[in-house]
Amino acid sequence: MQGLGAFATTRIVAGTRLIEYAGERLTPAEADARYPDVEGERHHTFLFAIDDDVVIDAAVNGNDARFINHSCDPNCDAIVEDQRIWIETIRDVEPGEELAYDYAYVLQERHTPAAKRRYPCSCGAATCRGTILAKKRR
Ligand SMILES: [Zn+2]
Repeated sequence: MQGLGAFATTRIVAGTRLIEYAGERLTPAEADARYPDVEGERHHTFLFAIDDDVVIDAAVNGNDARFINHSCDPNCDAIVEDQRIWIETIRDVEPGEELAYDYAYVLQERHTPAAKRRYPCSCGAATCRGTILAKKRR
């Protein structure tokens, strides 16, 4: 896993709201201008798209939520509620376990093998799909 990671210090039951994914609110165009997607380069920002209109940039005024890594077999999920993002546990978490949720990024472009390589995953889960991009139907 890349970055710092966030770990449980105590037992947390499923369905616990842990933290808000805080940060500056941008339009998608502002986010693209701030973090241009460079061909062949590994992607690493703290962006989280709420919907088609709002992107949260946790690199600005963000909190510890930005250190939670992606997993293809996660113990947390990101819940969007009233235009805010909350990280919640989806199963019981033991002390010392790393917290993670499925980033499930969606690009405007097709999720080609090249695109997936720009957004790699090596979470180590048996079900790892090799990318933090969401599955696209077509
Ligand atoms: Zn994975």
